[in-house]
Amino acid sequence: MEKSKGTPRRKKQKKLKGIPAAPGIVMGRAYVFGTETVSPPEIPVNAHEMAGEIEKFEDAITKTRKELLAIEKKISKEMGVEHGRIFNAHLMVLEDKVLHGQVISRMKKRKRNISFVFAEVLNSYIAALSSAKDEYLRDRSGDIADVGKRILKNLVGAQERSMENLGEKSIIIAYDLSPSDTAMMHKGRVLGFATDIGGRTSHTAIMAKSLEIPAVVGLENVTDMVSNGDFVILDGIHGMVLVNPSRQLIDKYQEEKEKYESIERDLGELRLLAGETLDGKKVGVAGNIELPEDVASVLSHGAQGIGLYRTEYFYMNRADLPSEEEQFNAYKSVVKRMYPNPVVIRTLDLGGDKFLSQLDVPREMNPFMGWRAIRFCLARPDIFRSQLRAMLRASVHGKIKIMYPMISGLSELREANKFLGEVKKELRKEKVPFDENIPVGAMIEVPAAAVMSDILAKEADFFSIGTNDLIQYSLAVDRVNEKIAYLYEPAHPGVLKLIKMVIDSGHREGIPVSLCGEMAGDISLTMVLLGLGLDEFSTSPIAVPEIKKVVRSIKFSDARKVAEKVLAFNTGEEVRNFAREKLYEFIPDLALELL
Ligand code: PEP
Ligand code: MG
Repeated sequence: MEKSKGTPRRKKQKKLKGIPAAPGIVMGRAYVFGTETVSPPEIPVNAHEMAGEIEKFEDAITKTRKELLAIEKKISKEMGVEHGRIFNAHLMVLEDKVLHGQVISRMKKRKRNISFVFAEVLNSYIAALSSAKDEYLRDRSGDIADVGKRILKNLVGAQERSMENLGEKSIIIAYDLSPSDTAMMHKGRVLGFATDIGGRTSHTAIMAKSLEIPAVVGLENVTDMVSNGDFVILDGIHGMVLVNPSRQLIDKYQEEKEKYESIERDLGELRLLAGETLDGKKVGVAGNIELPEDVASVLSHGAQGIGLYRTEYFYMNRADLPSEEEQFNAYKSVVKRMYPNPVVIRTLDLGGDKFLSQLDVPREMNPFMGWRAIRFCLARPDIFRSQLRAMLRASVHGKIKIMYPMISGLSELREANKFLGEVKKELRKEKVPFDENIPVGAMIEVPAAAVMSDILAKEADFFSIGTNDLIQYSLAVDRVNEKIAYLYEPAHPGVLKLIKMVIDSGHREGIPVSLCGEMAGDISLTMVLLGLGLDEFSTSPIAVPEIKKVVRSIKFSDARKVAEKVLAFNTGEEVRNFAREKLYEFIPDLALELL
């Protein structure tokens, strides 16, 4: 947008606020990911497919119009109407009837897919305008290229993208990154990333924490405000992105960065200490992992086990499904390294925002409420059985617990256990050893399962509360949608009551209850969860030292009082304010630094 003309001026400083996704402060050059020229594949289309192609084109135009109007409004509000006006020119390009007509008639003539034809027309426009003598026309070529890319992005949908041409040590700026894009990030080369869309508990954010790559998501227009090569400060603690900052600001953030890193170093000293309150109540503080490589981070942060191993990443970024043998080897290596601490391995939780390229799973309107997790596994016994076999076989090499995701009721738990029983029988017959007493637990992340946790507790060996999903389902707030992120409130009294219900049900049946959603890493709520009787926190390894610090600085009896008090509050805001106040009261140094 900023077109430099004549003598170079210092670029305009911009401050953008988003949602903090992974902590840390980094500074460096921006690499705008996914804005390279999109080259759609050339696909022949026949006469009866043309109406569908035209419809796709019209949908892409409508979507682009909506995006541009929203950006125009936001920029006019934040930076003044003259900046917003830039988008008027873009809107004019978008409405250009000649361009539309040319694209459609060319598609009919060339009998090729609309995205391919559109890219051809677009490129010919850009080429003609950028070589024009008239300066006004030359300037228009930039507008056409910007709008064209946007239309193409909406026309082609998710692009095959790669981080291969990434320059050394960059901050990635993208409209969106899928969890599998993030899994491919190389910590040495990616300093941090910022995206237009996304929420705090999206799997992209969770993956960033796992890789310890600072990240800010849900910035709405970061791809419009940052250009390739801009100098950027990314503050993943407060969710800020500063573009072309002044020297003063760079110095200030350098100080903040050093302060944050020194707190983290101090907290590292808790590595070998247990999670135990001042009055002797033992609490588990475990880590969540996505990939076997994450075990190193679990160990270095002093987690007392793995409370959630999200196995689906093993199935991603590859062309085939992993064999039983491959899975067995991965699980075996994880549990051996963690021994004598336990590892909770979750069966495949495909779906929601995690998709596998090698399985032809149709797109859905509501993927988080669709064919995912245990539902998918029960429908694909071939995949489910091979994973269960691998887990059972690995169980003799350490301490494994099996956990099913998204259990919505007793029948599902029983059906999953039926498969497990069959697989066990098979292994016995084959004389393959496994842990006959392997604990089998249910994730409680569907509100109905929380409400009937008293029944489920009779047939499960443990519970783990998946608050990332439990909150999105109980509050009806999509966890990856930045527009409604303000409603995503773990401290909502409705959520706390469900959590209490699950803990109480588990304890009545004598089974332990863990919590493995991102809420477990939110130190302002540690005291509340502890007071509700939670037995184990399982969170991104980077949050483990902070949780231990809180647990070790308070008495269980005080935590109980805090929990009792907040259960009587009517809003999430009241709960959060009170919980923060208490954290300041009991652990002022930590609260001051981290909240
Ligand atoms: C959860 O839902 O809280 C959870 C831990 O599982 P996931 O984030 O993988 O859906
Ligand atoms: Mg979940």
